[in-house]
Amino acid sequence: MSNVEKKLSIEERLALVVFNVDEEPHIIVDVSKCDTCDLKPCLYVCPANLYTLDENGKIQFNYEGCLECGSCRVACPNDAVKWNHPRGGFGVQYRFG
Ligand code: SF4
Repeated sequence: MSNVEKKLSIEERLALVVFNVDEEPHIIVDVSKCDTCDLKPCLYVCPANLYTLDENGKIQFNYEGCLECGSCRVACPNDAVKWNHPRGGFGVQYRFG
């Protein structure tokens, strides 16, 4: 057996992450506030790419793949992101990665 551990890439690590998705969203985004936001930093800071624009340029958000990093809460300049940790037993599980 080799003494050299195989180092996983970020993509390989993320592929091992699992989610126990709660039906109750732990993040609620008031997208009405996003209409007046020129920068829309949520599109760039979310490592899971959960913020997207629809064909009308409106922010769409899906909490289900959230990595719980908190970046969107910090980055939003309009206080549009209501952020909580998921309920106990729900959310991302990193122990497999
Ligand atoms: Fe994306 Fe992190 Fe916000 Fe979750 S907490 S939606 S992973 S930026």
